[in-house]
Amino acid sequence: QRERRKLGVALIGLGGYSTGQLGPALRETKFCELRGVVTGDAAKGRRWARDYGFPESSVYHYDTMAAIADNPEIDIVYSVTPPGLHLRDVLAGAVAGKHVICEKPMAVSVEECDQMIAACEAAGVQLSLGYRLHFHPYHQQVKTFAAEQAWGGPIKMSGGFGYRMGSAWEWRVDKALAGGGQLMNTGIYVIQSALMAKGEMMPVAVTAHEPPKTRPEYFNEVEETINFTLEWADGSRLEGTSSGVQGSNDFEAVAPDHRVRMAPAYSYDRLRMELDREPQPPLDGFFQQAAQMDAFAASLLNGQQTILPGAMGRRDMQIITAIYEASRTGKRVTL
Ligand code: NDP
Repeated sequence: QRERRKLGVALIGLGGYSTGQLGPALRETKFCELRGVVTGDAAKGRRWARDYGFPESSVYHYDTMAAIADNPEIDIVYSVTPPGLHLRDVLAGAVAGKHVICEKPMAVSVEECDQMIAACEAAGVQLSLGYRLHFHPYHQQVKTFAAEQAWGGPIKMSGGFGYRMGSAWEWRVDKALAGGGQLMNTGIYVIQSALMAKGEMMPVAVTAHEPPKTRPEYFNEVEETINFTLEWADGSRLEGTSSGVQGSNDFEAVAPDHRVRMAPAYSYDRLRMELDREPQPPLDGFFQQAAQMDAFAASLLNGQQTILPGAMGRRDMQIITAIYEASRTGKRVTL
């Protein structure tokens, strides 16, 4: 059988994640490849064109990305800019008639998610998310327990993702560009884990607490550390934490019939998992981002819906918004 044509991807924003992960992943993908970029730095764009073997005419600037509409080599645009700019990128992609992948967090508000979803629907293009964890076999095991209703009852979950951030300014501490602090940067992974374990079921309530800042001069616009709980109707519960000063990288789910522990849980590689107290064989070298982009490309080629639709990113933004409200008011916020 003849191999199907690969879909062309254009990355929007050539920062750390595009350079270190997504570009290299697109050298490994089977159903898509890098065929263009959007960048504020034309020289960098030309370097990428040379390295990845696409024409310089497929290097765009943020101000000229509407012209991607006329480039038949590009099927998918992928927003990898700071979250405050995702809306602009997604709208540009939709108007250009291209399918869109949006990095996490999807946006800086639920209203922005609504605009993105509406624009992609109106344009008849698919909107998907850069939720790479969904493709790692360890995390897929957690999803399988949910799909097979194998937990045997309510799940007691805990998890954290945090690291000590540097002291140089970056968009992650800029409220307008980041939307929020560590909850949106790393806490979102812990929320994703719990939702995977719960079969993507919406929690019914959240509580949250922000401890006093230890570096208020750096985290002057966004939270430094936040602790939060998610509650489900059946008594399942997550205790999560995310921090820009304290390292953590783990997820645990304990239910009547199964127990899962991952640490590290959220790294790009070298994850470790214990299943029912048994260490699982390492899967080092598994490329989450390649699997993620291939899965989206395959769904487009097969005329199927992405498993990570815009509605999922919107739901997570709704949960994040509720966590911020709970932290601000000190009250339990129902969803
Ligand atoms: P970087 O700061 O390293 O890069 C962001 C890039 O966005 C810049 O290099 C620049 O690209 C472009 N950009 C355009 N406008 C601005 C602006 N006003 N300020 C800063 N950058 C701008 O960030 P990351 O690559 O780490 O993160 C980008 C996105 O990817 C975020 O949404 C982040 O949450 C997500 N991410 C996801 C990860 C995951 O595991 N799924 C991991 C890391 C990040 P250029 O110079 O080409 O114009």
